[in-house]
Amino acid sequence: EIAAPAGLYTGRRNSAGIDLADETALTALTAALQASVTREWFAMPANAQGKVRDVLNPADHRDVVGKVMEVAPEAAAVMVARAAISRWGGTPVADRAAMLDAAADVMQARIGELMGLVIREAGKSAANAIAEVREAIDFLRYYAQQARATFGVEQQALGPVVCISPWNFPLAIFAGQVAAALVAGNTVLAKPAEETPLIAAEAVRILHEAGVPADALQLVPGDGKVGAALVAAPQVAAVMFTGSTEVARLIQKQLSSRTSADGHAIPLIAETGGQNAMIVDSSALAEQVVADVIASAFDSAGQRCSALRVLCLQEDVADRTVKMLKGALAELSVGNTQTLATDIGPVITAEAQGNIAAHIETMKARGCTVEQVAIPADCALGTFVAPTIVEIDSIAQLGREVFGPVLHVVRFRRDDLPGLIDAINGTGYGLTFGLHTRLDATVERVTSAVKAGNLYVNRNTIGAVVGVQPFGGRGLSGTGPKAGGPLYLGRLVTKAPEVLGP
Ligand code: GLU
Repeated sequence: EIAAPAGLYTGRRNSAGIDLADETALTALTAALQASVTREWFAMPANAQGKVRDVLNPADHRDVVGKVMEVAPEAAAVMVARAAISRWGGTPVADRAAMLDAAADVMQARIGELMGLVIREAGKSAANAIAEVREAIDFLRYYAQQARATFGVEQQALGPVVCISPWNFPLAIFAGQVAAALVAGNTVLAKPAEETPLIAAEAVRILHEAGVPADALQLVPGDGKVGAALVAAPQVAAVMFTGSTEVARLIQKQLSSRTSADGHAIPLIAETGGQNAMIVDSSALAEQVVADVIASAFDSAGQRCSALRVLCLQEDVADRTVKMLKGALAELSVGNTQTLATDIGPVITAEAQGNIAAHIETMKARGCTVEQVAIPADCALGTFVAPTIVEIDSIAQLGREVFGPVLHVVRFRRDDLPGLIDAINGTGYGLTFGLHTRLDATVERVTSAVKAGNLYVNRNTIGAVVGVQPFGGRGLSGTGPKAGGPLYLGRLVTKAPEVLGP
């Protein structure tokens, strides 16, 4: 344990978000959400040429949320060249940090409006949208504080950093990557996921208004080709990527043969997928297991890399637990996320919907028992998948990560526990892991044997909190360092600081 040097880390608090049980707050939020329903948003990068297209709400394709201009790959290369001659690295760290704090204050003040956009563009539920904006605010403030507390003369910027972020946390992870790179003095080429450029554009506008110069932070909307063009630009000094393991590998391959202008290897910070498991033994508290499993597997329609994919139930409690899970599943409200009471929204695209449906069909064809809840008729307006439980015989049957509301259940005998842990580790992934047990010896035994970045005991496995639960995986799940933790900024400067703290 490394104690925080006195005084350095005081004063930061995570965002309180909105208390939906507070009538006044709820009325204000409802008004803000209402106002955002008909608003049109834009992601139009300055000084760029490209094709303009509509961005549609995945919960209801009749809803055009806004317009995006997708930058042509050649234009992306020009944007990197522009970043390379920016003077941002010379801005004092205190000023850079103050800009992040100012942007965080604006997000806090505009939380209802930003939630409205996240709900429409990404199909997030209201509760998830609150968490999304809060997490973005927390990342901004956390990295600002970390930089202030730990950076000295030895921490110089690397240069232009390419940030490629995912649609499942279109504001939080976007802002986290960008804030970390910027506060370290790097210029940023921010490529948001193709599906969610509008909230990213809004975050960039907020950061520009808070003082970050236009050439220090450039939004580069587009598809994978644009991402590839950015990564290929010779001036690039680091890449931050959250997405699939396959794409992370391609980026790593590209970077491995290059050195930066000042002779460094070009770092890649990648956060990728998982085949996250939870082990539940017969001593666990059944009601708590059910609540935590439902949250872990189905919150955000299972579209979190931290989401639970395979629940391992000790044989003697399996029937009872599966029965309870099915009952809880039927209680979930699936549908349009404009309604505050909706638990589960759509999956992100028709392609995702098709892939998940194909997986469910494959499992049925293999003879697996499949339980699906019925979903309301108006779900046909968007891309929904009914929450599904698939019973399988072994972890080996999982195959590829299924990024949606599908939970696999496997049974194990107590004396098979070592074999089960080997199978979980044998997937090669190691992002999150959950354990439910009331036996201390089992906690010790299992948590010391499972190889995962984030281990959760007797709780759900999602929603790591910035500055409290640094988030990131092992093996195929990522390169580290963990996001929202004290080691993150060290990878983005020439020399990692030695002062570490919370
Ligand atoms: N940080 C998120 C969580 O703990 C997951 C991030 C992701 O899905 O990429 O649930």
